Amino acid sequence: MPETNRAIVFDSPTKLTLESLDFPKLQMPNGTKAPHGVIVRIVATNICGSDLHIYRGSFPVPQGMVMGHEMTGQVVEVGSDVQFIQPGDLVSVPFNVACGRCRNCKNGRTDVCQTVNPQVHCGAYGFNLGDFQGGQAEYLFVPYADFNLLKFPDNDAAMEKIRDLALLSDVLPTAFHGLMEAGVKVGSTVYIAGAGPVGRAAAAAARLIGDAAIIVGDYDKERLDLVKRNGCETIDLSQDIPLADQIEAILGVPEVDCAVDYVGSEAHGIGHEAHELQPQAAINQVLAATRAGGATGVIGIYGPDPLADTKEGQEGTFPLDFGKVWIKSPRVSAGQAPIMSYNRDLMMSILWDRMPYLSDMMNTKVISLDDAVGAYETFDQGSANKYIIDPHGLISA
Ligand code: NAD
Ligand code: ZN
Ligand code: ZN
Repeated sequence: MPETNRAIVFDSPTKLTLESLDFPKLQMPNGTKAPHGVIVRIVATNICGSDLHIYRGSFPVPQGMVMGHEMTGQVVEVGSDVQFIQPGDLVSVPFNVACGRCRNCKNGRTDVCQTVNPQVHCGAYGFNLGDFQGGQAEYLFVPYADFNLLKFPDNDAAMEKIRDLALLSDVLPTAFHGLMEAGVKVGSTVYIAGAGPVGRAAAAAARLIGDAAIIVGDYDKERLDLVKRNGCETIDLSQDIPLADQIEAILGVPEVDCAVDYVGSEAHGIGHEAHELQPQAAINQVLAATRAGGATGVIGIYGPDPLADTKEGQEGTFPLDFGKVWIKSPRVSAGQAPIMSYNRDLMMSILWDRMPYLSDMMNTKVISLDDAVGAYETFDQGSANKYIIDPHGLISA
């Protein structure tokens, strides 16, 4: 085994560095031994909009933390308590770190595991959530491996579809979860706020489910074009037209059955307010867009944001138009997505070619670890690519 691990490390807002760290150990962040864990050699590790919150300084993390939570890789070392995962297995790593033993994990709520993070009931790699190092690196430690890892049935078949399968660690199951929480089913009309990678994955998932009208709103023409050319309706929010009017122009009615916020608190306003940061804009837009009796999902991240220009934003309180929508009996669900609830089924859909449009909508671009810091800058400026880092050159090969 090598002695080092090259990794993308957080230094300070907008400053990431590529560093050579120690090879990871089978050890929990508090130093206890982790015979239930494995070491994974990373095959694909993607850059996410959630990483941008960290990169910009909206979501504070400690200096020196390894970035990244969307990992796919090959197991190279297994602890003595691991029973079902073996060296050589090609696996997807859900971004949630979960113990598999607590009340929430037993109920499938791996997004709110109660034991892996002493601060709050939620663990994740490459966030300030339990001190687990991220996976934008050559190697990664994964605890409770039998529980956490999704093993691909056939390594060769998986490598052929690796660009799509790499989306199973976060964006695709997360996007799907947002739709499920908003009650999406065959024939639903759905409004997707945000055409970033997660919003575009949601548009792809809505096609898989068989939605009627799939309407995606954003300002970014290039991102919107990716979904438009794959069978979705789009709304250009830089136009000074109220969202309800834009929805009505498409559907004949101003509301949809289901709406999901794939934006979070770095949202902007509509039309002449499109250049203003309005932390509560997206959540209020999806609440307003949902019909009475429908449901709303909130996948975009909300939290105290030190960069917000209001005291409320810095404290993480957001002015919701609750009084306006209460009469519609809103059903709203928010939080991290429990990846494990969906990743196996979506893997099967990918392996059996049920989403042939997925790669085009996601516009994935494979890059080296050396190019990753530069890709953060490009993605931060709104690139329409979903970047997949290939630290060992295995995808390119
Ligand atoms: P991204 O930053 O690439 O995309 C966000 C998009 O939203 C941008 O294209 C932006 O132009 C657009 N936007 C801004 N304001 C808008 C508005 N009012 N209405 C519609 N669109 C608007 O991010 P991403 O990778 O697609 O991720 C989207 C969000 O999902 C982020 O907040 C991310 O942190 C979050 N996320 C949550 C989970 C979870 O488990 N809940 C998992 C992954 C990502
Ligand atoms: Zn992510
Ligand atoms: Zn747990």
